[in-house]
Amino acid sequence: MSQQIIPHFIHGERTAGDGARTADVFKPATGRVQARVALASPEEVTQAVDSAERAFSEWSALNAQRRGRILLRWVDLITEHMDELATLLSKEHGKTFPDAQGDVQRGIEVVEFAAGAPHLLKGEFSTSAGAGIDVHSLRQPLGVVAGITPFNFPAMIPLWKAGIALAAGNTFVLKPSERDPSVPVRLAELALEAGMPPGALNVVHGDKTAVDALIDDPRVQAVGFVGSTPIAQSIYEHAARRGKRAQCFGGAKNHAVIMPDADLERAADALIGAAFGSAGERCMAISVAVPVGEETADRLVALLRERMADLTVGPSLEESSDFGPVVSRDAKERIEGLIQVGVDEGAELVVDGRGVQVPGHEEGFYVGATLFDRVAPDMRIHREEIFGPVLCVVRAADYEAALALPNHHQYGNGVAIFTRDGDTARDFTTRVQCGMVGVNVPIPVPIAYYTFGGWKASGFGDLNQHGTDGLTFYTKTKTVTTRWPSGVREGASFVMPAGS
Ligand code: NAD
Repeated sequence: MSQQIIPHFIHGERTAGDGARTADVFKPATGRVQARVALASPEEVTQAVDSAERAFSEWSALNAQRRGRILLRWVDLITEHMDELATLLSKEHGKTFPDAQGDVQRGIEVVEFAAGAPHLLKGEFSTSAGAGIDVHSLRQPLGVVAGITPFNFPAMIPLWKAGIALAAGNTFVLKPSERDPSVPVRLAELALEAGMPPGALNVVHGDKTAVDALIDDPRVQAVGFVGSTPIAQSIYEHAARRGKRAQCFGGAKNHAVIMPDADLERAADALIGAAFGSAGERCMAISVAVPVGEETADRLVALLRERMADLTVGPSLEESSDFGPVVSRDAKERIEGLIQVGVDEGAELVVDGRGVQVPGHEEGFYVGATLFDRVAPDMRIHREEIFGPVLCVVRAADYEAALALPNHHQYGNGVAIFTRDGDTARDFTTRVQCGMVGVNVPIPVPIAYYTFGGWKASGFGDLNQHGTDGLTFYTKTKTVTTRWPSGVREGASFVMPAGS
């Protein structure tokens, strides 16, 4: 049987492209190849940008309220197709069905927010800034813009980027992850069905070749990237060399500090979900627990070990699975390799998730929940992102030592503190060097109308994703100074006009 080819979506149509280069798309639950995906050539990327350029005049000319209505129809269609999308997503990514629904839902919420663009794009106005002079500013779309997105949220992150960019009147070329490419194509088809003109949202699959072609195309005005830090940094530099704006979000190592006064039962529950949900393949996963004091640490490790005994790793579409496989064989090998590094470096392996067997799915990419205790800050398993179901416990003698861990880490994405003490929580939220902070909340992903972004090596660029920052990123400001003929009272002036 010939293998299904997952096509690009250009100018409102599925297109398999020239077929010269393709990549395998796996079903992580079984370890088998379930389809192939077309990898775009530079010429195919040019076709997608041509299409977006053609669509721009029609889409940007619609007033923002009409665009908003189309976005809301898109939300309705995505919601109607939720189960289909979540199933497709779960099969290619490996996360469980309810978690895949959450992936789609958190994307929808940003599109709902973006539908309020008429309000969000309002400019400023000052009357009588000088004699008879008024000044106003407006925000205009950039033109054709691009998004390059990772495998771990194949619905949410494309919707975060495209939803905001389209609401502002731009047209969009999405280059999603080639590892789980089907959902982005369906989202683009639904956008067309909702009433967007062909070309407003194009999807091209591919690897570095496609990404380079997108950034090099002078018509692409802005690049929004999410993925690993080395690629985020190189794309940020590439875009800057081409003189275009970029926001590039990278990897993470998120700490949770557990104070002695915390509700330890609740903290342990929160850590289990945040460390092992989606097999740890979330940029906001908690991968380091930092109990303060030996007694807190001993109790916490005992509670975690107890709960981990009840966890089920299994096929993503089976209801009994707490979490599914990791995305690829390479990912499984990398994670298991890092577990061995932790053992070799002298950390205490409390629960070993290697070698887990799921009956009937022996070739699936499964890694069981893994717990290390007594991890030292300079060990690789603390310094590096593992991006798998591995939780490291770094014991801290006191609050200051605990705070120093996220503050001195190369990454600064998310962080959490578990405590009942308001003073401690306030001090922590003020002094911690991370972009998103949870107080008794393990995964503090900001809601759609706030902004999402990490600090240090977790983010390059000065504007966050979604919320008002997203609209600022995907628009440019124009400032208009007006004086009508009746207001002109003097002849030519040769001095610089000043406000006073
Ligand atoms: P990745 O960096 O491998 O890929 C991300 C995107 O870049 C994909 O579309 C991929 O095709 C493309 N790409 C890969 N290599 C490239 C190259 N050499 N040149 C140009 N483009 C290239 O990341 P991933 O494995 O898909 O995703 C996991 C990573 O993303 C983790 O590090 C995770 O922490 C991070 N992430 C960060 C956030 C955030 O908001 N900070 C959110 C989600 C995921």
